[in-house]
Amino acid sequence: MTDTQKIILITGASSGIGAATAQRLAAAGHIVVAGARRPIEPAERLEPARLDVTDRASATAFVQDAVDRHGRVDVLIANAGVMPLSRLDALLVDEWDRMIDVNVRGLLHSIAAALPVFRRQGSGHLITTASVGAHEVVPTSAIYSATKHAAWAITEGLRQESDPGLRVTTITPGVTESELAGQISDPYARDAMVEYRRDTIPADAIARAIQFAIDQPADVDVNEIIVRPTRQR
Ligand code: NDP
Repeated sequence: MTDTQKIILITGASSGIGAATAQRLAAAGHIVVAGARRPIEPAERLEPARLDVTDRASATAFVQDAVDRHGRVDVLIANAGVMPLSRLDALLVDEWDRMIDVNVRGLLHSIAAALPVFRRQGSGHLITTASVGAHEVVPTSAIYSATKHAAWAITEGLRQESDPGLRVTTITPGVTESELAGQISDPYARDAMVEYRRDTIPADAIARAIQFAIDQPADVDVNEIIVRPTRQR
C-alpha cells in the first residue's frame, strides 16, 4: 500500500455515479469496495460487495468486512439513492417509503457503520451524494427533495459535531446520466422528466468532483460541491 492509496467504500456502486466513481478511484490507485444489491464486476483494486443500505446489519457488515480485510476505512461515499418521483396527490405511498428508506435510513445506516471506525482511527472522510433537489422543490419532487434536504442536513450536522480529523463533503449533482430516472412509475412525472433531463452530464463529471474532495490534504475539508450541466437552470 502506498502513502497516497486510500481504502474507499462506495454505496450504490452498481450503476451511474457510484459505478463511475468506483472505476475512477480504482484507476487512480485506491482500493475501492463497491456495494450494491446487484452484482458488480470485480476489477483491479475494485472489490464488489453485496449491500442493501436499508438493512442496518448489511450496512454494518459492509464496513466491518472492509476493516477486517484492509485494517481501516479512509473514505465512505454514501451514494445509494432512488428517485421515483410523483405528485403527492398520486398517493404512491410505497414509493415515498422507498425513498425515505434508501435515501435517509440507508444514509443513516451507512454513517452509523462508519462513524465508530473513523473515531477509532482519529480520521475519516464521509461523502454524501445529495442533489440540486436538496436546494429546490419542483412539482413531483416533494418527497425526493425532502430526502435530499435531509441528506444535506445530516451531513452538515455531522460536520459540526465531528471530532477533528473527520472530513465531511456533500456532493450535489445536477442532471447526470444514470439509471435514476428509469424507476419513475408515475406517468406525469415521467413526462416532466423527459424535458428536465434533456441536457445531462456524464456520471464521470460527478466522479471527478468526488475525487477532487478526496485528493485534498488532510487539513482541507471540501464541504459541498455543486456540479450541474451548464445549460441546466
Ligand atoms: P442510479 O440509479 O444509476 O444508481 C443508484 C445506485 O443506488 C445503484 O447502484 C443502486 O444499486 C443503488 N441502490 C439503490 N437502492 C439501494 C439499496 N437499498 N442498497 C444499496 N444500494 C442501493 O442513479 P445515480 O447514479 O444517478 O444515483 C446516485 C446518487 O446520485 C443517488 O443518491 C441520487 O439521488 C443522486 N443524484 C443523481 C442525480 C442524477 O441526475 N443522476 C442528480 C442528483 C443526485 P442496486 O439497485 O444494485 O442496489
